[in-house]
Amino acid sequence: MLHEQTQREHSQLWANATDCKQTKVAFPNLNQHLTNKLLRLDRSKLRKVVGLITGHSSLNRHLSIVGVTDSPLCRACMEAAETPTHVMLECTGVTEKREIYLGSPAIIPEVLSNLGSILGFWNELGWLESRATAGNFYVQQAKSSRA
Ligand SMILES: [Zn+2]
Repeated sequence: MLHEQTQREHSQLWANATDCKQTKVAFPNLNQHLTNKLLRLDRSKLRKVVGLITGHSSLNRHLSIVGVTDSPLCRACMEAAETPTHVMLECTGVTEKREIYLGSPAIIPEVLSNLGSILGFWNELGWLESRATAGNFYVQQAKSSRA
């Protein structure tokens, strides 16, 4: 009873929230099934998937916002901002690899239905570990300012 009421209030808050734009694309509604699957991932895999869901990843769009790179453009096609959505749904530069791992998804929640495939796709690209992530960048900045 209390649990159901909490769930309803949580759903209402999420539905009315105007921030977290990227995350709302991935989670239009609360999704307990997906949440449970995420919580079973190890820390390294969870970090990658959460970065893809929130947009806070080591992709160029985010890195350009936080000042780590100059260009937000996609390294494969150079035609659009390099965001998780662009790479997983639209990018013409990774079409072959995307089809192998993800098929031809139309929306992000469809991609998120198979976390193993997402991780396989991004491991194949190597883009989530090819450079220091924004988080590591801040750690490095903090260390160098203390030195
Ligand atoms: Zn692209």
